[in-house]
Amino acid sequence: MARCNGPVCRLCRRENQKLFLKGDRCYTDKCGFERRGYPPGQHGQGRIKFSEYGLQLREKQKIKRIYGLLETQFRNLFEKAERMKGVTGSNLLSMLERRLDNVAYRSGFANSRSEARHLVRHGHFAVNGKKVNIPSYLIEKGDVLEVREKSKTVARIGGALEAVKRREIPQWLELDSTAMKSRIRDLPGRDDVTAPMEERLVVELYSK
Ligand code: SF4
Repeated sequence: MARCNGPVCRLCRRENQKLFLKGDRCYTDKCGFERRGYPPGQHGQGRIKFSEYGLQLREKQKIKRIYGLLETQFRNLFEKAERMKGVTGSNLLSMLERRLDNVAYRSGFANSRSEARHLVRHGHFAVNGKKVNIPSYLIEKGDVLEVREKSKTVARIGGALEAVKRREIPQWLELDSTAMKSRIRDLPGRDDVTAPMEERLVVELYSK
């Protein structure tokens, strides 16, 4: 699957906030944004004034980068959110949260969404007892995501579960870390997305 291969910390600096893309490192003083909290490039330390379009574009890029999606995947998800009942921006965020790679990350089975995507692709997870290796798979209420029996000894998963104590497991998930299982109590709503995001700007951008 295609993905963004550039320097990751640069993305946080570009969006002027920590996007937590590198797992454990993000919580240490080695964090690139903590060291250089200004946008990259020659004019990074100058005063940057965004136009309305610029603000909308930056917000879209930020959300896309947090979830590690490419433009086409993000746009397709937006179009799906538009066709659904309810508020498009909230639908979009809810669907992003429901992606299998995100659920694996939020459950604590991986240190970052990109690591979760890698683990999903390598078939380490099952949903309701069936192996699923599609990161974009959307989970439903009542589903049970679990680490497959043969993968329970994978050091990266065990290490991530140890480190998850530093992060909060969202209310809509119920984690049994001993059994390496996570039950989806409820579908995530807008209030369950705690990272600062202004999805309204994405809707405005794509509605032009
Ligand atoms: Fe962003 Fe994490 Fe890099 Fe810090 S360490 S700049 S939060 S990706």
